[in-house]
Order: sequence, then C-alpha cells, then structure tokens
Amino acid sequence: MSQAIVWFRRDLRLADNPALQAALDAGHAPIPLYVHAPEEDAPWQPGGASCTWLARSLRSLDADLRKLGSRLVIRSGSSLAEIEKVLDETGAEAVYWNRLYEPTPIARDTRVKDALKSRGLHVESSNAALLVEPWTIATLGGEPYRVFTPFWKNASARVAGQQAMARPASLPRIPDDVESLAVDELGLEPTVPWDKAFWTDWQPGEAGAADLLEAFVEGASHGYKEQRNFPDRIGTSRLSPHLHFGEISPRQIARQVIDARKPAIPETDLGHYLSELGWREFSHHLLFHYPHTTEHDLSPKFARFRWAQADPEVLRRWQQGRTGVPLVDAGMRELWQTGWMHNRVRMVVASFLTKNLRYHWSHGARWFWDTLVDADLAQNTQGWQWSAGTGADAAPYFRIFSPTAQAERFDLKGNYIRRWVPELAALPLPALYEPWNHAALAAKLAPDYPTSPIIDMRASREAALAAFQQSK
Ligand SMILES: Cc1cc2nc3c(=O)[nH]c(=O)nc-3n(C[C@H](O)[C@H](O)[C@H](O)COP(=O)(O)OP(=O)(O)OC[C@H]3O[C@@H](n4cnc5c(N)ncnc54)[C@H](O)[C@@H]3O)c2cc1C
Repeated sequence: MSQAIVWFRRDLRLADNPALQAALDAGHAPIPLYVHAPEEDAPWQPGGASCTWLARSLRSLDADLRKLGSRLVIRSGSSLAEIEKVLDETGAEAVYWNRLYEPTPIARDTRVKDALKSRGLHVESSNAALLVEPWTIATLGGEPYRVFTPFWKNASARVAGQQAMARPASLPRIPDDVESLAVDELGLEPTVPWDKAFWTDWQPGEAGAADLLEAFVEGASHGYKEQRNFPDRIGTSRLSPHLHFGEISPRQIARQVIDARKPAIPETDLGHYLSELGWREFSHHLLFHYPHTTEHDLSPKFARFRWAQADPEVLRRWQQGRTGVPLVDAGMRELWQTGWMHNRVRMVVASFLTKNLRYHWSHGARWFWDTLVDADLAQNTQGWQWSAGTGADAAPYFRIFSPTAQAERFDLKGNYIRRWVPELAALPLPALYEPWNHAALAAKLAPDYPTSPIIDMRASREAALAAFQQSK
C-alpha cells in the first residue's frame, strides 16, 4: 500500500478531517505527522497558554490515533526539512494538509508546496477550518467585506448545506522504525505549573470538544441570545480553544446545532449562535485580505490619533488585575487563572485599556496572545481592533464602556466580581461595582483593594473623547 504524509497543524482531530480523508480516499496509508516549528509563525509564535494547551491536545490526538491502530509522528525543526526526512525514510508518495489562513503560515505553506511539487510529489490541501474561505466571497463590487452584516448575510446562506465527514474506523499501523519525539521533548509546558488551575475547566482534545458541544446543545444553547452576556454563568459554548486548535470544526458545530432535535434550539438562539461563528469567519476574512492589521490599524481615521505612551507599571497592573476597577480586575484575573475570559468582559477590559488609558490596542493584543488558551491571530486582532474602534465595522470610538454600568447590567448580584476578586467579597452592592465612591465602607470591608482606580474614570473618558475629536 502506498504511503502519504498527513501533516497535522491546527486540525488536531480525526473526524471531519478532509486532509486525512483525502489521503485515505486516494488509497494511501496515512502517516500522521506533526512538526514543531514555532519560529515559523514569528512574530506570532504561540504564547504560553497556547503551548500548554497544544501539549495536551497532541497527546490526545496521539491517543486517539493509537485507538485506531496508528500513532502520531512528532518531529521538531524546519517543517519542509522534517517532511522531506519522513518522505525519505518511508518512501511516501504524497503529502496532504489542511489550510491555514494567517499571512506567515500561508507564505510557509506555499514554499513547502512548491518544494515538494518540484520533487514530483502529489501535494494536496483542503479546507478544515472555515465555513467560507476568504477568497470565495466578495461584495457586489468584488471587494473584500468590511462590514459584518452583509458579509454574514452572504456567507450564512452557505452554512446549512455543509456536511461533516465521519472519523475513519481504523488506520494502518505506522512502521516501528519511523521515529517520533515524545510531546514532553517539545518543551511546551511550563516548568513552574502556573497553568494548574486551567485543567479543572478544560479538557484539550477532540473528546473534550465533543463533550462541550453536546453539553451546549442540551443546555446553554437554549436562551443563548440573552445568557451569553452574563459572565457569571455558563451561557456560551466555550468552544473557542477547541476551534482554534481544530479539535472540532465549525462545520461539525453548525451541523449539530442546526440538527438538534431533543428539543430543537429556539430559532433566535440558533441564529445568534451561528452569527457568532460568523464573526469568527469574518475575522479570518479580514485578516486574509488585510494582513497588515495584526500590527496596524485598519481604519485610516486613526492615523493622527494621539495614543498615550504606555507606562510599564500601569500596564502591569492592568495585566495582573490590580487597576482598582472591579469588573476589569475580575476579567484580567479570570484570564490569568483559567486562560480564558468571557466575551463581554474582554470588551470591557479592552475598552478600559484603549479608551480610559488610551494605550494602543496592540499592548492588549500581545498580552491576550500570551495568556489566552484560545489566542487566535484573526479573532484576537479583530476583537482588539473592534474594541479600540480602529477596525472594520468596529464599535465607534466614542462608545466607551463604563465598567460600572456593565457590571450593573451583566453581573447582577456581583457573583463574577466576588469570585475573581475575593478581597472585595464582603462589599455589598452597589459599593462592589465602584468601591472608590464608597470609601469608608471599602476601607472597612475591602482593605486590601486599591482605594481608587488607576486612572480617573470620568476624566479619562472625557480626555479620550477630546483626543478623538482632535484627530479628525
Ligand atoms: C479584545 C478581544 C479579543 C478576543 N480574542 C479572541 C481570540 O484570541 N480568540 C478567540 O477565539 N476569540 C477571541 N475573541 C472573541 C470572543 O471573545 C471569544 O471567541 C469568545 O469569548 C469565546 O467563547 P465561546 O467559545 O464560549 O463563545 P460562543 O459565544 O459560544 O461563540 C461560539 C464561537 O464563535 C466565535 N466567536 C464568538 N464571539 C466572537 C467574536 N466576538 N469574534 C470572533 N469570533 C467569535 C468563537 O470561535 C466561539 O468559540 C476576542 C474578543 C475580544 C473583545
């Protein structure tokens, strides 16, 4: 039987894996290969939280492959050189992979494809990660979309017909002489276990993703449109890291939520959930067409905007959740302790950084990149540019989130703040939301919390609006 390499990257699953399926359909025995080459993603090589997730995800993939009779071959070094070594060792005749859409991997994959083709090999790539690939959709004028609503109106029409592929029932054995590194040898996990608390919440790998989706379909999907806004509840699917690493595909998710029947997900919740998957698609569409946006504002309106010079100590206090603004601190601590932060709170902490502190969004994007288990270049870039007002179809700059008003609306009893900022736990409402306006009570009941915010909330809001006016 002829052999083919299936080059796994961010498609760490066996079901609905078109590259794996294409190799099997062509009659090859697949050799599942993972090449650890973080420097090939520079300057956006995976951050700390992503690496520790990846280690677990690779172990899970290897275990799943072994159950089917195969195993994961792990190498480290240049992707092309390692693929070529495995080709030489095994005599494989073809290489299959699923596409990535960020600028640096695209350039690398193009080089790899050219080099392999010039050796006369069959090279084939597939779409495993998106419902609508960025070059397959455009405005009536033939331009990339920059506004979400028309993008999704067009793209969503293609969703309902998509089917996911089944996982193979078994896979051929990999010859013993094909060597593999152990996951431990990749140095992905921290030597000081700062990620210990992550794993009560997360189970990296295909089974963990499937369990979360099932729980969501049976539970939080009902009422999603409302519940998704409340950070103290499990009101969302929490599938973002699994989607990033390709442990589940958006096709599988869409299929399962659309087909749910016991009972069916209410139309408004279903439509809203699919549109959030649509924001993921839109993020990839934007990054593909505007690759410079990982570092630079998309909107030309901000060319003359005067961002503040970032003070390292202030930035550190934001990162560590010590700003003196309870909802901001709660979010930043949730992020540090679990590797994830609720979407509403992401918007609040991002607004605080880019508007109250007036720091360029890239400071926040970098911190999220290192600390989020779902850190994704397209979604993180879009999320930060949207929050800062510099992106496509962004929140207008003058819409500045008030952390107090957001907490009053979405952390009704203060449970979220109390959970993540325990030194505030004894404060009653409404002092919990803005302790600086209840100084005597705060001094008595929350003596270990900052007595005032790191920046005057009202004055900084006005200064941000004035700076925006001036830059016009
Ligand atoms: C400043 C900022 C930075 C962000 N950085 C990232 C990031 O690095 N990686 C990431 O996956 N998401 C990012 N997001 C988007 C969003 O916060 C997360 O996708 C969401 O919180 C994940 O939780 P969930 O899986 O429970 O979402 P659900 O509500 O269950 O939504 C399902 C899926 O839809 C996608 N999605 C949901 N909301 C958004 C959105 N606003 N934009 C794009 N896709 C969305 C995600 O893939 C998510 O898993 C960011 C948002 C902001 C405001």
